[in-house]
Amino acid sequence: MIKKMKGTEDILPVAIKKWQFVEDTARDILDSYLFKEIRTPMFESIDLFSRSVGETSDIVTKEMYDFKDKGDRHIALRPEGTAPVVRAYVEHKLFGPEHPQPLKVYYMGPMFRYERPQAGRQRQFNQFGVEVIGSTSALTDAECISLAWDLFTELGIGNLVVYLNSLGKTEDRKRYRQALIDFFEPVKDQLSEDSQRRLYSNPLRILDSKDPKDKEFVKNAPIITEFLSPESKAHFDKVTRLLEDLEIPFKVDPYIVRGLDYYQDTIFEIVVEDDSIGAQSTVCGGGRYDGLVEQLGGPNAPGFGFAIGLERLMLLLDEQAIELPIEDELDIYVMALGESVDCYAFKLVQAARKVGLSAEMDYLGRSMKSQFKTVSKLKTKLLLTVGEDELNANVVQLKNQDTGKQTTIAMKDILDDFMKVYRQNTMDTKVIDEFFKGE
Ligand code: ATP
Ligand code: MG
Repeated sequence: MIKKMKGTEDILPVAIKKWQFVEDTARDILDSYLFKEIRTPMFESIDLFSRSVGETSDIVTKEMYDFKDKGDRHIALRPEGTAPVVRAYVEHKLFGPEHPQPLKVYYMGPMFRYERPQAGRQRQFNQFGVEVIGSTSALTDAECISLAWDLFTELGIGNLVVYLNSLGKTEDRKRYRQALIDFFEPVKDQLSEDSQRRLYSNPLRILDSKDPKDKEFVKNAPIITEFLSPESKAHFDKVTRLLEDLEIPFKVDPYIVRGLDYYQDTIFEIVVEDDSIGAQSTVCGGGRYDGLVEQLGGPNAPGFGFAIGLERLMLLLDEQAIELPIEDELDIYVMALGESVDCYAFKLVQAARKVGLSAEMDYLGRSMKSQFKTVSKLKTKLLLTVGEDELNANVVQLKNQDTGKQTTIAMKDILDDFMKVYRQNTMDTKVIDEFFKGE
């Protein structure tokens, strides 16, 4: 038997409503923020990622799904969403005057990284992310962070906190980089192997090392805050002020650096405060990337974006036992008593679907007893029953599954106005009785 590839998951029909609910909730929020969807290809030239995400990043050095296609092109399955969006922005000149500025887009879909699979870490996983291109305003930073926060809040996910830092501009980073090298160089031999390797290529990454030995040194390492230019400092102060106004709980953490090379100024992560979903506690990460568009051949346009890991978000929903208000009732079930009436029943099912009601019947010639089981399993509101007698008299038996009230209705009346019949027969009479008693 052929099985799914390591690090991939099937999202089965039993789980899909939950995914769709989360996606719909996100789309509702995005609509209110005026973000539009963008769909870029799943694969791109590998150069796009090595040039943007960075030659020294984990993604490019270890995690890329890359291959040569039959035309000898070096291709990568996209590991992240920002570079493809920026490529599309440059390629289609979305900075032109006919496009709203800044550009505000979102994407939802699979990303691919060759990693060691574990809970909340897959090789194909789904991200929901946004990008704003063309605004340097701190309002944009706050707008994006607040959008991500709104999604978690709307879904009822709690116990989260925003970690915030500023990486400054390239010049600030350069000076900070040197300060870190100067600091770690004398103790180089005592650092973890990874950190020794990164000392000259990407010393900032030593700061988010998980190694306990490294952590001891990191505690006393210089912090970026002292290297920020007055402009970067003012920008960051405004972001924190805006978040305070919005009452979004955040902590400034000078040691978060993020894995991708292109970030500058504001960066943030949204993290679960306990270890309820294991080591993979970061559900959202993002920040500002003012040099990236130019680096990929576009104009000098600033950018801000984030990505949420949807599998981790799903784990959180389970872990926090959140019941999503998912509608899973069936409006109409048509029970056919015998094969001779199945066409008659099918006509009713299709008529119901045509007016927008959900409707189902049996396709396997099941007994009445087993059809009744289906009726209750599907949480049916209105049960329609047809047998030979009903067929001959051109009527249908109708039963409200909540109240047990039964009636017989002419087939013609149903086909004339199915919705009216449905409404008249699913009104909970108990509620109406209570109402008149109160009068
Ligand atoms: P991590 O440190 O956990 O590897 P990252 O910094 O590589 O995360 P980003 O590139 O910032 O992650 O991606 C944004 C979000 O996407 C992460 O916060 C996480 O929720 C999710 N994510 C990243 N990699 C994976 C993966 N392999 N499987 C599932 N979700 C992932
Ligand atoms: Mg990673």
